[in-house]
Amino acid sequence: MTGLRERLDRDVVLSAEGYLFELERRGYVKSGPFVPEAVLDFPDAVRELHREFLRAGAEVMVAFTYYGHREKLRMIGREQDLEPLNRNALRIAKEVAAEGDALVAGNICNTWVYDPDAPESSGEVVREMYREQVGWAVEEGADFIISETNDYVGEALIGLEVIQEFGLPSLVSFASSSSDRTIDGYDLDEACKRLEDEGADVVGLNCSRGPETMLPILDRIRTAVSCAVAAQPAPYRTTPEQPTMQALRDADGARVFPLALDPFLCTRFDLADFAISARDLGVNYMGVCCGGAPHHVRSMAEALGRNAPASRYSPDLSLHPILGDHVQEKEKKFANWKD
Ligand SMILES: [Zn+2]
Repeated sequence: MTGLRERLDRDVVLSAEGYLFELERRGYVKSGPFVPEAVLDFPDAVRELHREFLRAGAEVMVAFTYYGHREKLRMIGREQDLEPLNRNALRIAKEVAAEGDALVAGNICNTWVYDPDAPESSGEVVREMYREQVGWAVEEGADFIISETNDYVGEALIGLEVIQEFGLPSLVSFASSSSDRTIDGYDLDEACKRLEDEGADVVGLNCSRGPETMLPILDRIRTAVSCAVAAQPAPYRTTPEQPTMQALRDADGARVFPLALDPFLCTRFDLADFAISARDLGVNYMGVCCGGAPHHVRSMAEALGRNAPASRYSPDLSLHPILGDHVQEKEKKFANWKD
């Protein structure tokens, strides 16, 4: 098995996230706090979703520790479960990664503790939270660490420093807010450049934006940095007027995030198109974020010219009884739409 850096040199690395939303839909995560309690309470559900992403062609099993940090565990009264949750998440990811040729990524994220008006004092709290999580991930055998959904360059830099303390390759990505800037005032391409300058292996974007509104920013990031670029959109049909999933509104003008996003979900074909466009822009690491499911990832893998284990069951509509090549006269009455 080769490491992240070697794989990035060789080809696009296909990943997958979206564990939070998918396990929420399946009834194992509570929307709102969004804490990955399922790692302890329903490990089989987490294991199965890892396996589905692996079969869909994901080359990275991302440990389900998003929002598995001290602040969030304290909020739901499970602070004593912090270490077992983190260690279990890594073990589950590692176990499934070994069923294929996948890497294991530890995962740290936005903490809601960092305060740009008090960067020193709040930053120290964040640093300790990251140190314990990254430390457990390293002990459990992570191949690299992802710091994701960053809203502040200041917090992202702390994440990168902690990853570097432990000597693992790093991927640092920002959740692109509707203003094209981080909350502490950096354009997203400039933010990525700051992280590259400090030694991040991979920089880029995840979450918030759908494929359509993420691509133009990826183009700017690709121009701004020379290191590897990551792109993991939330697979929703965002628009220039409503550029993030948080900004999407229904016909009555009501916010649909996070519980009524379904009508905006991208198709597998949208994600296949995204994979091609992102690859052609020079994106090196891609996947899906919140809202993504295994069928999206398989389509991306196939668009990249790959044959995933789950490709065995990829569609063959030529065998469909109504849409197929050998439709009998008596079946034609089922195809009652206007052509
Ligand atoms: Zn996300």
